[in-house]
Amino acid sequence: MNFKEIIQEVYQEIEKIEDTGELASYIPELANVDPENFGVCLSTLDDSSFGSGNCDEKFSIQSIAKVLSLCLAYNILGESIWERVGVEPTGTAFDSIVQLEINKGIPRNPFMNAGAIVVSDILISNLENPKEDFLTFVRSISKNSELNYSEKIANSEKSFGYRNIALCNLIKSYGNIQNNPSDVVDFYFDLCSLEMNCKELSELFLYLANDGISPFNNIPILTKSQSKRINALMQTCGFYDESGEFAFKVGLPGKSGVGGGIIAVHPNRYTIAVWGPRLNKKGNSFKGMNFLEKFTTKTESSIF
Ligand code: GLN
Repeated sequence: MNFKEIIQEVYQEIEKIEDTGELASYIPELANVDPENFGVCLSTLDDSSFGSGNCDEKFSIQSIAKVLSLCLAYNILGESIWERVGVEPTGTAFDSIVQLEINKGIPRNPFMNAGAIVVSDILISNLENPKEDFLTFVRSISKNSELNYSEKIANSEKSFGYRNIALCNLIKSYGNIQNNPSDVVDFYFDLCSLEMNCKELSELFLYLANDGISPFNNIPILTKSQSKRINALMQTCGFYDESGEFAFKVGLPGKSGVGGGIIAVHPNRYTIAVWGPRLNKKGNSFKGMNFLEKFTTKTESSIF
């Protein structure tokens, strides 16, 4: 399969389509990004990468970081983590609050904000220096040990994060947050502010294409069974209320973020990262969704 050629071809096709999406503006700093950015990078288990467009430019990965924090918490707690957070899709927006009351403070899945806030609480309870230790974890499974948070983005979100603070307080009222809610959301905002480019992102996620083992240094992050479960969650819950459509059109486990990034995983074959900051109505990258649909169609590489 000539991935390089197909990436170039699909990239050019998508560039021609009018991007009807809009930048996320509820985190003020995200609205300062050049909306025309468009980058793609595919990485394979045999250590090859094929990029196109702005694939070397760093962006805010936002909710994509929820996969990394979940994997670290899963590694620490094992299966008991599912007592604190569910594994069901929501059919609602990423920042939805409605189901929390019905489910008595147990978020339906770890990829909606409520679930990621509970995962952040778990990490605070289990790590000595949560912010530093999480970054050390991410760097340890990455090819680039310089990866970092963006203070600017984190501070921008911290000054307007009322809804996430509300979510955290509501969960706390049901007893499913153990730490101080303002420490929990602060840590959650720090996680979301991680920055990297498409190449770094696609490489970082290769462990999920490799049964939970980082291919760069053979560090086991998850067991084979846990890795399968994280991929299943990304498939069913990775795109908020557009997860069904992503499975239908793209057919790969994946995760998106409001910074306009998407990571998708083809177990045992490759990972692919796409970045286009303009978001569709469901909060997923307009260009990213369209690119991946065409890419898996052309390469016949949907897992289905
Ligand atoms: N930090 C963002 C928030 O909590 C992440 C949301 C996202 O990327 N979907 O609102």
